[in-house]
Amino acid sequence: SSLSISPTTALQSPLQIFVRAKKRINDIYGEVELYIADSCKFLLSLPKDSDLITKDELVVVDSHGEKVKGIREVLSRDHMKVAFFGRTSNGKSTVINSMLRERILPSGIGHTTNCFIQVGGSENGESYLISEDSTDKKNVNSVSQLAHSLCTGSLGDSALVRVYWPTDKCPLLRDDVVLVDSPGIDVSPNLDSWIDRHCLDADVFVLVANSESTLMLTEKNFFFKVSSRLSKPNVFVLNNRWDASASEPEFLEEVRRQHLLRTVDFLVDELKVCATRSEAEQRVFFVSAKEVLQARINEFKGLPINSRLNLNQLWDTVSPKIIDILAGMIADGFHGRYFEFQDFERKFEECISKSAVRTKFDQHTKRGKAIVGDTRNVMEVLLERASVKRTTKCQSRREVLDHLDFTEKQLQLVTVEMKDKICKMVEEVEHKVSKAL
Ligand code: GDP
Repeated sequence: SSLSISPTTALQSPLQIFVRAKKRINDIYGEVELYIADSCKFLLSLPKDSDLITKDELVVVDSHGEKVKGIREVLSRDHMKVAFFGRTSNGKSTVINSMLRERILPSGIGHTTNCFIQVGGSENGESYLISEDSTDKKNVNSVSQLAHSLCTGSLGDSALVRVYWPTDKCPLLRDDVVLVDSPGIDVSPNLDSWIDRHCLDADVFVLVANSESTLMLTEKNFFFKVSSRLSKPNVFVLNNRWDASASEPEFLEEVRRQHLLRTVDFLVDELKVCATRSEAEQRVFFVSAKEVLQARINEFKGLPINSRLNLNQLWDTVSPKIIDILAGMIADGFHGRYFEFQDFERKFEECISKSAVRTKFDQHTKRGKAIVGDTRNVMEVLLERASVKRTTKCQSRREVLDHLDFTEKQLQLVTVEMKDKICKMVEEVEHKVSKAL
């Protein structure tokens, strides 16, 4: 029977935690930019000789404007980054392709990844790549073209090629996730430079292990190095090629138990990135990337994802016996592995979005608060100075008025006195005149 496996819709996706937080912090920074611009405009409009603001204070507010612009630019480029590591041919490229639901990265024999390849969403719907040694955009429309471009470059194994891919078929790219493929850890002597250049800003690491063998020392050593540089990196372990186990069903449970035990030991006791065994168990998955990729490509083409029905189409050309054998081989345990891959994707999405919000936006939030706080302080000092000035002006105005009042009264008194005096004098003069007559 066919099983319908619908892709997680954008609304349900835990990645929306990051997408929404990014939009919100961008909006807030938009408001902060306006506030700083308004404050600056106001400060510059004050009369130069007013003594209300010092030059240093003006510089503080003005420089915050520049800082906010810079932060907004960084914010617009912020994304969630996941890096995949593991030995050559464990299936890193196939895991990335499965998550992207499309064959984007070349994989398989002859396509060993020999530099870092970062796949992210393209803004204009075109697919192209930019390698570190040039600023040119090279168009790539197919996996073979990409493989060709990667082969012709003479980049070192720490170099980075950025692939920009249309987001319409890949929900992860639409939601701001970039996925980084790496050369096999077994072949590179440059692990330190890898960590410096590609790991320090990664939100999640996925170790793609081979379930047909146990974790190798090279794989473990790499993660010891990573965790010595980053405090508590988020690590997921995919035991890939789990479809191979289907051919030996009698050992399946035992093999799984052993792998799980060792991987959990590694995450809890050795690497110390998980606090408890049950937390670590949520980080380990048994999957078949190859099957998932094929199923998703089928699904996209409108074919049933379960290959049984595809095989039925062969009915006319192949004998029923062969069809039975093929169907058994392909479908055995397929659904379980597919669901486990989806379970991995869900937990991965939750982890990466929460971690990215914390690490990417926490700093910006603190800086934003400091910028707004500084500007507010300058404006408050200005308000304080202005009100002191107003009070002193009012006081001196009142003193002048009082003085005027006093003078007026004095004047009135003087006037009355003078009048009396003059009257008396007149009377005296009249008296003297009358006597003289
Ligand atoms: P990378 O070197 O780690 O990137 O490995 P690739 O993704 O190139 O895979 C190497 C080979 O393993 C390819 O031929 C894949 O088709 C095959 N492969 C990948 N994943 C699986 C899987 O889950 N099961 C099986 N059987 N083969 C796989």
